[in-house]
Amino acid sequence: MANVAFIGLGNMGGPMAANLAKAGHQVRVFDLSESALAQAEAQGCIACASAADTVVDVDYVISMLPADHHVLGVYLGDQGLAAQLQAGTLVIDCSTISAETARNLGAQLQQHGLRFIDAPVSGGVAGAQAGTLTFICGGAADAVEEAKVVLEAMGKNIFHAGDTGAGQVAKICNNMLLSVLMVGTSEALQLGRAHGLDERVLSEIMLQSSGRNWTLEVYNPCPGVMENAPASKGYQGGFLVDLMAKDLGLAQQAALASGAMTPMGSLTLNLYRSWSQLGHGQEDFSSIFNYVTPKTKA
Ligand code: NAD
Repeated sequence: MANVAFIGLGNMGGPMAANLAKAGHQVRVFDLSESALAQAEAQGCIACASAADTVVDVDYVISMLPADHHVLGVYLGDQGLAAQLQAGTLVIDCSTISAETARNLGAQLQQHGLRFIDAPVSGGVAGAQAGTLTFICGGAADAVEEAKVVLEAMGKNIFHAGDTGAGQVAKICNNMLLSVLMVGTSEALQLGRAHGLDERVLSEIMLQSSGRNWTLEVYNPCPGVMENAPASKGYQGGFLVDLMAKDLGLAQQAALASGAMTPMGSLTLNLYRSWSQLGHGQEDFSSIFNYVTPKTKA
């Protein structure tokens, strides 16, 4: 069993750290939120007073933080972990950040004698809780292979997408597609509802027809259709609108840098940004369903 430091115990990191502890690893954790720390402790992790306190005698450091600047702060900031970790430690960042930041971070950690892989995830909060996440890794093949010792306690599919940063590129491609599916599914459900259809019946029809997709399978955006989906829990506790807007921004940056054509990704970025500006940034991203409600006819 491994000694692991885990930083960032939010909607995703909390259950991921709990699954590591459940598998028998020793997991030293830190989060800025005291309630998140207390919950992790109740689930078998060792709560620490700072990120620096987590990295005593650890083989692996895992981070699950919101965005680029949080990750850079934790590793390279004033009290950054880069200067405190023992040479050879494998750093596994599971946050969704830009590929460029991941590559820069990997290079700087290497100067401190550390190893790094980017390992963003797919599967949502339900996947984090069930330990069935998909890890999409970038970095040296031997480091990705070694990381399986801990990743397998949290997920069931572990892909090696390529060199450092490649995991992030694959991840933003996936999330750009997910945003398009979520908006499209929401539109279809609202259109059917506006014409008197029952959302449950319409969902089942589309699920068994050519419109079938992941949002209909496990994450229906219409309240009441799927008991465990965030839509049926007031759009709380899933993947925030602001985080989806962040990922779509990363996708557009990558598209600009490469000249790739992403009209649908650009549209969903604008929809999610504007939904956030209307005050919905801290809701689950399926709440976009409420943005595409039919307007009253003139
Ligand atoms: P979250 O906002 O629920 O959790 C982030 C946690 O990081 C919070 O508990 C916060 O207190 C903590 N944090 C921030 N700065 C910190 C610091 N300096 N030191 C310690 N803790 C710090 O976010 P989340 O939903 O868990 O997502 C985390 C990452 O995973 C994001 O990059 C997101 O894009 C990605 N992701 C999320 C989902 C999802 O369904 N929620 C799915 C796949 C990927």
